[in-house]
Amino acid sequence: DISPQKQQISSIQPTPLDSNKSKVVKEIERIAANREQRRARQDERRQKLSEVDQSIPAWEFQAMVSEYRQQLDTKLLTMNEQQKDLKICVCVRKRPITKKELNKKDIDVLTIPNKEVVIVHLPKVKVDLTKYIDNQKFRFDYGFHETCNNELVYHFTAQPLVQSLFQGNNPMVFAYGQTGSGKTYTMGGDLSQRDVDFSKGIYALTANDIFRHLNKPPNKGQFDVYCTFFEIYCTKVFDLFNEKKRLRVLEDHKNLVQVVGKKEEQVESVEDVMTLIRRGMSVRTSGTTSANENSSRSHAVFQITLKKKNMIKEYGKISLIDLAGSERGKDTQTNDKTTLMEGAQINKSLLTLKECIRSLGRNAEHIPFRGSTLTKVLRDSFIGEKSKVCMIAMVSPGNSDVEHTLNTLRYADRVKELNVDELKQR
Ligand code: ADP
Ligand code: MG
Repeated sequence: DISPQKQQISSIQPTPLDSNKSKVVKEIERIAANREQRRARQDERRQKLSEVDQSIPAWEFQAMVSEYRQQLDTKLLTMNEQQKDLKICVCVRKRPITKKELNKKDIDVLTIPNKEVVIVHLPKVKVDLTKYIDNQKFRFDYGFHETCNNELVYHFTAQPLVQSLFQGNNPMVFAYGQTGSGKTYTMGGDLSQRDVDFSKGIYALTANDIFRHLNKPPNKGQFDVYCTFFEIYCTKVFDLFNEKKRLRVLEDHKNLVQVVGKKEEQVESVEDVMTLIRRGMSVRTSGTTSANENSSRSHAVFQITLKKKNMIKEYGKISLIDLAGSERGKDTQTNDKTTLMEGAQINKSLLTLKECIRSLGRNAEHIPFRGSTLTKVLRDSFIGEKSKVCMIAMVSPGNSDVEHTLNTLRYADRVKELNVDELKQR
């Protein structure tokens, strides 16, 4: 018979196997507890959002926002501001509210009071039914308010990267944001007019600067310039300079990723570049009824490459990327298989992009570029100590878009890990 004492001892002193097991169990419990906490936080966040009171009449809400704006210290970004020399630059551009939005009684809930702050105003109601606005503040490298033009945006985003290109690097500029927030307007120019003007888009402004540099010593007569333009839809790549021909992405024995057979067009002037952009953009939207129908589902990659005269190897390359609509990655409500699959791919590529930029910012050894076709294709721009990235997060100002806007701001916020020095400076 086992005495009660003995029984007790055996239950206190577990065998080595039990102790291992209990470690595993503890670990599982810890993970489960973390998950619970995370869920609770998510629920809280959701709860907060659902408290947003849509019944506040627009005029009343607008009045609260105006009142708040009046007491803000406003000092907008201008060309006089010094350009920052950043490895990772993350900025936000707000587009003006449209007549159409105003006609639908939408109101402008975004304020960019100075060169780096973005404030979102959320309508709320207290328990005692008093209405108020919850002002959520974000800080970025630059905040472009709604009256900024493309030249100003260009000056602080892509222009510093043209320098880097001439030093033999492969910088990148990304336009991120929900469909309709102004990505294509910023990159390509104003397409809403019948007589489309590409001259004020980042593509043309970049080309303009490149040719300006090329006409000056010591660069004069040293380089040939080429453009490529392709689109990434799910895991497939299509050439916009060649009637959307399907292109293959291959990795060679040196781990170099190549988009095989893409058409490289040599250019001699800004006009050449604009002609090509016009052609590529019309190929991109051909066969669809609206400009956004296609472009919201795919990433468009426009590249300008410098090669030393008579050399095959690239000297440097700047990539300007008009990303797929960020809201597409969140679309899980649909029953349509294709849409679900597209959404999952877009989500994956945007998350991978964020991780790659974060890794670059940390100077990490490993860049997880294999996670999506987009980052695979851009691999040689992610490696190298001197790689530079600029992300322009576009936001729509309307209250009806505020959830997407918050998602965009949170994404942009996480793209860049601020280091301690930067935090101190702020
Ligand atoms: P996206 O490419 O992100 O889907 P678009 O660039 O097509 O969005 O912009 C949507 C609409 O808003 C277009 O009609 C465009 O002309 C207009 N728009 C975007 N940004 C601005 C801006 N900064 N100023 C004036 N109009 C703009
Ligand atoms: Mg677009």
